[in-house]
Amino acid sequence: MDCKRVAIIGSGTAGAASALYLSRDGHKVTLFERVQDPTAVGAGVMLQPSGMQVLSELGLDDEILQAGVRVERLHATTPKGRTVLDLCYQHLDKKYYGLGLHRGSLFSSLYGAVQDEGINTEVGVDIEHVEKNESKVCTLVASDGRRFGGYDFVVVASGARTELRKALRIPHVAKEYPWGALWFVAESRQFGHVDCLRQYLNGTQKMLGFLPTGKGPFGGPALTSLFWSIRADRLDAFRRQGLDAWKTEVLELAPKSTPILDQIQTTDQLLFAPYFDVVLKRPFQGRVVFLGDAAHATSPQLGQGCNLALVDAATLGRVVADSRTIEEAFELYEKRRRAQLRYYQWATRFLTPFFQSDSHLLGWGRDALMGVSCRVPVLSKLMTSTMCGLREGLLRSYKI
Ligand SMILES: Cc1cc2nc3c(=O)[nH]c(=O)nc-3n(C[C@H](O)[C@H](O)[C@H](O)COP(=O)(O)OP(=O)(O)OC[C@H]3O[C@@H](n4cnc5c(N)ncnc54)[C@H](O)[C@@H]3O)c2cc1C
Repeated sequence: MDCKRVAIIGSGTAGAASALYLSRDGHKVTLFERVQDPTAVGAGVMLQPSGMQVLSELGLDDEILQAGVRVERLHATTPKGRTVLDLCYQHLDKKYYGLGLHRGSLFSSLYGAVQDEGINTEVGVDIEHVEKNESKVCTLVASDGRRFGGYDFVVVASGARTELRKALRIPHVAKEYPWGALWFVAESRQFGHVDCLRQYLNGTQKMLGFLPTGKGPFGGPALTSLFWSIRADRLDAFRRQGLDAWKTEVLELAPKSTPILDQIQTTDQLLFAPYFDVVLKRPFQGRVVFLGDAAHATSPQLGQGCNLALVDAATLGRVVADSRTIEEAFELYEKRRRAQLRYYQWATRFLTPFFQSDSHLLGWGRDALMGVSCRVPVLSKLMTSTMCGLREGLLRSYKI
């Protein structure tokens, strides 16, 4: 394909990574971001072998490895000490591991590379609509009326809550889960679990997680992210009940979490993250393609969102390089992403109520069966490769 003018909406994981791929392939990219001064914010995320491979292809893996911390294992137990999940990356392949990372570190690496490579960025621009003329050239319309024209194709990477799906009338279903999570990023201090994503579960209504998060985007001491599952409509009650009652609940589940809890003095320090489930009938319409959470947000139960966004960007880069026309590239993109995205959307939707819902039966079934499944080699392999981001179906996976 000859040099195209590309507009990318959103400078998160999917947007920044696809800007790098497309710009390096010789296209003239402009990255639009609604935040005036995009900075490194957020809590911990887990990068999986699938996402790490993309970062390595982009030449950002060394930087990311220094900012993050290797996670070798996912371990979840009930208050009675029953193991519900115990998955080790190395049981699948000696070279696999997860990387606990501050979301801001991922942003800094990707966005830093965008700036270093001189990719054009337009910040403080909230894109509301994309118009096409008869010769298929796209114009972006911002909420303040500004217009940015002359693009051959547009990448929408504006996240789970984007209004652009509606504005462009792309057939989709987007739902908010009743449950989300409160999170807090703490200094790790004497808290253990340095190489383990540790979860404490009590039924389906209580879930506490500690994710090693590395050094954070600005360096400094080792960090741990705390996640506490909560129904969105119980947030007010949580704030009314006060911090001490909540800390007592946390300590009942994880008695050694005092070094983390001591850093939380008000409920306002715990920030709420809602979860979304988004399904697009097709990921593109005309010359507009949707990537990342804008196309396929899931609950973070399987910790795949950033990883899927990175693989989306890498795939888009490849299909554009391999195709003669934009239409051909988008058809190929859909074909190459279909199996993996369908599997992770299905698996996340299926598993989430076993960890976050009001069903006692699901919690009982999970505690009875999942721990045992981790000890059955074929099931342990299925679960570990799912965690690694390497599955394309129940019967298909790939290696890297
Ligand atoms: C609590 C929680 C824990 C998670 N844990 C993990 C994990 O462990 N591992 C993992 O891989 N994923 C995890 N995720 C998911 C992950 O954060 C997302 O899947 C990922 O950030 C999606 O990236 P994105 O680029 O698609 O969207 P985003 O990161 O949301 O970026 C969208 C960007 O678009 C911009 N934007 C929005 N609208 C407009 C507009 N109209 N015009 C211009 N710009 C716009 C936004 O400001 C933003 O910068 C977690 C999510 C949550 C909530």
